[in-house]
Amino acid sequence: MKSIFDIFSKTVTTKVKLNAPYGIHLRPCAKIASIAKSYDGKVFIISDKNKVDAKDMNKILALGLKDGDEILLSASGKNANLIIDKIATFLLTLTNEKDNNVKIETTKSFDFEGKATKGTTISSGIAIGIPYLWQNNFECKIVDNQTFDNAYRQTLDDLNLMSDNDIFMAQKALLETLPSNSFEEFKSAIKAVITSLRGSEHEAKIADYKDLLNSIKTNMSDTKNVEFPKNDFIVIADELLPSDILKLADSSAKGVVVKNLSPRSHAALLLRSHKIPAISIDKNIENINDTVILDATNGLLVIEPSEDDLVKAKKEIEKNSSSELLDFKARFEGAITKDGKKIKVQANIADVQSAKEALMSGCDGIGLLRSEFLFQKEKPSVDEQCRAYGEIFELFDEVTVRTLDIGGDKSLPYIKLNDEQNPFLGIRGVRLLKTHKDIISEQLLAILKASRKKDLKVMFPMVATVDEFVEAKELALTIAKENKLNLDNVSFGIMIEVPSVLFLLEEFNKVVDFYSIGTNDLSQYLFAIDRTHNLLSIDSHSSVLYDALKLIADKALRPVSICGELASDEEAVSRLISIGIDTLSVPSKIVPTIKSRIRDI
Ligand code: PEP
Ligand code: MG
Repeated sequence: MKSIFDIFSKTVTTKVKLNAPYGIHLRPCAKIASIAKSYDGKVFIISDKNKVDAKDMNKILALGLKDGDEILLSASGKNANLIIDKIATFLLTLTNEKDNNVKIETTKSFDFEGKATKGTTISSGIAIGIPYLWQNNFECKIVDNQTFDNAYRQTLDDLNLMSDNDIFMAQKALLETLPSNSFEEFKSAIKAVITSLRGSEHEAKIADYKDLLNSIKTNMSDTKNVEFPKNDFIVIADELLPSDILKLADSSAKGVVVKNLSPRSHAALLLRSHKIPAISIDKNIENINDTVILDATNGLLVIEPSEDDLVKAKKEIEKNSSSELLDFKARFEGAITKDGKKIKVQANIADVQSAKEALMSGCDGIGLLRSEFLFQKEKPSVDEQCRAYGEIFELFDEVTVRTLDIGGDKSLPYIKLNDEQNPFLGIRGVRLLKTHKDIISEQLLAILKASRKKDLKVMFPMVATVDEFVEAKELALTIAKENKLNLDNVSFGIMIEVPSVLFLLEEFNKVVDFYSIGTNDLSQYLFAIDRTHNLLSIDSHSSVLYDALKLIADKALRPVSICGELASDEEAVSRLISIGIDTLSVPSKIVPTIKSRIRDI
């Protein structure tokens, strides 16, 4: 007879026919490896006669998998079927890669009078600006082992912070395969891989290796920030690497002209996702005017535009201003309803990178920092946490930081929870105090240390009873006292996610400073439907939910905001405001739209 152990640890296999128009290149390989690494058991990919460890990105890459190939996924260990499903589901998403990533519109060409040069569209759009010649080569003076070691670690940390982006997750995996003993060894290893990649089907990986070398060099040098022009500018570059695009996205760059760039390179993907018009021109650009027009949609750089060309281009830029663009332009203006009600629109963020993006979104501070995404790989030290929080707090006048919300649908590799029959009803959110008090204590210490004089709101998730909140707040007060930290600017509140809170508001009013409604979990618990269930779905516009929200708004004597998805639902906004909600917290990309909808109410 089979034991339970046999059932759980048997090998599960599944065949997948790849439908990946661009093959399984670096990012998908990194993604597969990262999914496989989240699993304790063994996972393999078998193609023809080769069997490779699915946790090793380079081995998957070496299989050279192409569109139409048949592979076998195999896993053994507990819940092997789940990991196989996850990888197979991810592979299915590659079918759409072509449409998602290389969407380049072209329209009828303009007749520009001035001299123009033709290239290939990388990211469509039209822009006017001063040309800015991009220089990427610099040599760092200090190359001793300690400086290199620090730079290597810093680069790893930087990439960790960007691990929600597949491109930088893949770079991190590449970095981990490179020697880390000395800069010389590191440099020659990179040189050797680059030579071996030239002319191969994985040539695009070269940019990622160069980017890693640049990041290390940057982290070894004193001058880290490139000075960009303050006025609108068009970058003219021989080569741009992925991390360069992130720098440009934070500047007043209006467009990019680059000598060598494949539309499917990582830098191109980032240019499109940041909506930066870009073209690739395979020759040197000379005799360029002080102001140029980049008509990326039509693959043109007008290097000597006439006055008429400039007028025409300006008109086109204005015409292209869709309502999204208009909303975006007005993002820093207040969100005031027609009858004069001022609504705060805040942003939900997860890490330093998304905090920086939020800063540009016009948000009125941060309504939800989902802190569980800050350190996803390894348990951070208090100092590391403090640095990351400090960096975020510095950017805004007001930040609401939620303590770790692990359990249910969220997990971290360094927080092991016991297997539970109903994880959504078990150790989750503030209940971690029962099993992982040390981790929450360290987090609270880091948050409070980083708060300095900023208005900071500390929010506990998944609170069901007043005692839970009181215990959590007392822990924070004790930590502050032990470490002589001033809490004058810190307030404490709860997420309303558990229905019991609705019936305890009178008691909560006496102890909390604020409430934030997590409509995602509140709906899950109101309807007893797992929010991740693929058959059962919750009606997000159910009157039951609105009644619950109204009850909270009526009974709460402390400020109430909504940070669940309902807040970013354009159709829901006016109803939420009529209920009495005056603060919404939404993903930063949506801030301009929600502000604009509010102005229409
Ligand atoms: C919510 O539950 O609505 C919420 C904002 O929290 P999360 O989605 O992170 O659980
Ligand atoms: Mg929640």
